[in-house]
Amino acid sequence: VTPVGKLEPVEIGGVVVSSVSLFNEDFIREKDVRIGDRVFVERAGDVIPYVVGVIEEARDGDEKPIEFPRECPSCGSKLLKLPGEVAWRCINVSCPAQVVLRLKHWGSREAMDIRGLGDATAKALHERGLAKDVGDLYYLTVKDLLRLPGFALRSAMNLYEAIQGSKNRGLSRVLYGLGIRYVGLTTARKLAEHVKSVWDLKEISLEQLASVEGIGEVVARSIKEFFSRKENLKVIEKLERAGVKLSAEDRVGPLKGKVFVFTGTLRCCTREKARRIVEGLGGVFANSVSSRTDYLVVGEQPGKAKLDKARKLGVKMINEEDFLDMVGDYGDIDIAPQTSLF
Ligand SMILES: [Zn+2]
Repeated sequence: VTPVGKLEPVEIGGVVVSSVSLFNEDFIREKDVRIGDRVFVERAGDVIPYVVGVIEEARDGDEKPIEFPRECPSCGSKLLKLPGEVAWRCINVSCPAQVVLRLKHWGSREAMDIRGLGDATAKALHERGLAKDVGDLYYLTVKDLLRLPGFALRSAMNLYEAIQGSKNRGLSRVLYGLGIRYVGLTTARKLAEHVKSVWDLKEISLEQLASVEGIGEVVARSIKEFFSRKENLKVIEKLERAGVKLSAEDRVGPLKGKVFVFTGTLRCCTREKARRIVEGLGGVFANSVSSRTDYLVVGEQPGKAKLDKARKLGVKMINEEDFLDMVGDYGDIDIAPQTSLF
């Protein structure tokens, strides 16, 4: 929320100025700008004119201090100021003042990749009251879309298909698309490695979240705030009801359901990498041999206990080459670790 000061119109450099930027609450406090003040205004280039200072001598005592709103002027949702920031922000995912931006972001290539949901379309959807939040997109019919300016049957059908076709983009893209402050693509991917579903972020504690590598306290707080707002949860429910997949991709791959245990050193990779390969390809990585174990992968200097147990239980033992054969070309795919905090 950016405060704007209204002025008695004044001409500066050939342009009539009637509103000025007050930047943020700190700026207002620092300059002690009050309602009714006479102020110095500067205008440079195309930048919105701003207040340089207050003419204190011109005060007559009727000036009123500015009370910065704690609720969004557009939707009434409680504003949030994160540590280290000066701006008060509305984090309501269905805030009318932000609908166009949020629709556009949701449809962007890195998020849900909805072709045809650009600036103009997002704006038109908002103006015609067809989409108040990203959840509404999935309930639009071809008939609805035909109401958009410049849309004919073909283009309406294309957009409809693009929206419906975006339901399975995966957890990290959904998290990114929601437009949570500080949750960019990289952070969204990191989160998707640690939770199984969008809903997990509602349940997870601030401490747990902050302890995830690369997340930290500020990002964690932003996420927890986002999921503490009923308005936001409603939109997520709407998405879920529409069939948008909010959970991690089911792991299907050549190792699906197979339980692997490793012993000794591998030349190809660390134990951690081996775990990621197994889990990334749908297998299960276990630390000890049991009757459930399908394969014991034997590296250099294997542990005697694991070997003995595998022999006793009749677990199939393979060497590193056998393992890499099973992995095949999948070895160099982008394999996401599937550790879960739950
Ligand atoms: Zn708002």
